[in-house]
Amino acid sequence: MSVAEEIIAKVKEKDAHEAEFIQAVSEVMESISVTVSRHPEFVKDGVFERIVEPNRVIMFKVPWIDDNGTVHVNRGFRVQFNNAIGPYKGGLRFHPSVNLGIIKFLGFEQIFKNALTTLPLGGGKGGSDFDPKGKSDREVMRFCQSFMMELYRHIGADIDVPAGDIGVGSREIGYLYGAYKKLKNEHTGVLTGKDLEYGGSLIRPQATGFGSVYFAAEMLATRGESFDGKTAVVSGSGNVAQFTIQKLLQLGVRVISVSDSNGTVIDEKGFDKDKLDLLMDIKNNKRGRVKDYAAALNLPYFDGKGIWDVIREQGVKCDAAFPSATQNELDGENAQALVKNGCYCISEGANMPSTPEAVAVFHENNVLYAPGKASNAGGVATSGLEMSQNSLRMSWDSEEVDRRLHNIMRSIHKNCLSAAEAYGKAGNYVDGANIAGFLKVAKAMVSYGVI
Ligand code: NDP
Repeated sequence: MSVAEEIIAKVKEKDAHEAEFIQAVSEVMESISVTVSRHPEFVKDGVFERIVEPNRVIMFKVPWIDDNGTVHVNRGFRVQFNNAIGPYKGGLRFHPSVNLGIIKFLGFEQIFKNALTTLPLGGGKGGSDFDPKGKSDREVMRFCQSFMMELYRHIGADIDVPAGDIGVGSREIGYLYGAYKKLKNEHTGVLTGKDLEYGGSLIRPQATGFGSVYFAAEMLATRGESFDGKTAVVSGSGNVAQFTIQKLLQLGVRVISVSDSNGTVIDEKGFDKDKLDLLMDIKNNKRGRVKDYAAALNLPYFDGKGIWDVIREQGVKCDAAFPSATQNELDGENAQALVKNGCYCISEGANMPSTPEAVAVFHENNVLYAPGKASNAGGVATSGLEMSQNSLRMSWDSEEVDRRLHNIMRSIHKNCLSAAEAYGKAGNYVDGANIAGFLKVAKAMVSYGVI
């Protein structure tokens, strides 16, 4: 058995019920096993075994009271996975599907993603099975306060710096930060994704979506192409999807879809600025659904249908796809249909949105395929820039932050390609991202000794 096979087998045995974590570990191990022959010290020092075990897992009770006075109890998590190259960093997800396996998969991916950003950031992730949808602002506030009443003792500007993710946006970060400030009596950069008035960074809300498009533009450039005049599909309608659409519109792309967990809109005419403003108002201010957006513009809406099924069933054609909702949203069958209908560039805004079968389809068909840990790293990178600005007690203008973000995405792209090439996997962004991220973390782990 190879080292990678041994590690995968152990994880399958120990964490048998954590399907997403096993999936993430398997993919990374399959990529990084090629480093063994050049780095025997990784095996000697047990780096492969140590990297799949979180440094610390914190699981806690989050009791809160709804507007009717009823008590509810949710479960809170923070997985501090690896801090070899910097403080733990990674978002908080509030969604009913959240469990330990999902937070571990996200925290594990975050190690390599954060290493790729070129910034000194370790990997972590957290969240809760609380669902903010349908709750009043006051209920969300009480939940966030209760969540932070436990989390505050485990985090800190140089220890662990959480941010947003699914279900955690500007409103939730405000309540979480307010509670932290009150409990600790200090004003530090302990959370990122803050509003501008109290230490946030310009371009942070846009960063993941913009970064995903910048990465895709770099991939297209390797074939001498640009985005101008292309057609794209985007899944989801949250933070990442909205700013992916915004950047694509700026680059002259026709964006023809949007979705949420209840349904899908296909708009062959494509988004324009007014339509995107309306979508953002419905989603962010009115906390509505894409169904409301479709109704307001009389657009075709597929109720109860996942976007990739709709694209397959309707034979929707596109050049590029940006899966930006959630893990494993795009399976092998739908990947086949996408490719058959002309799609040849995939940039993941979400974390692990393509199943292993879908990824295999992309590779078999020579598709330009960027895994989330590379293409969506612009979000955490800009969180890193927010931390720098907080430490410096200053703020950069949006051009400065966007310029840095763009440069970081170019570097990530370049590093993925060089690492892949160096290990005989030319053009494979999955292997390139895993190898480049891993080498940085593994070398630091060896320097520290076995600890
Ligand atoms: P939001 O909560 O803003 O939006 C999430 C979107 O995805 C919503 O449209 C939501 O629909 C949809 N969605 C969530 N779960 C499901 C599901 N099970 N099935 C179908 N649709 C679903 O989150 P973000 O935009 O911030 O995050 C989207 C993805 O991007 C996640 O994978 C996240 O981990 C990743 N990501 C986010 C970063 C960031 O900076 N925000 C950084 C890097 C990665 P509905 O409203 O119906 O739930």
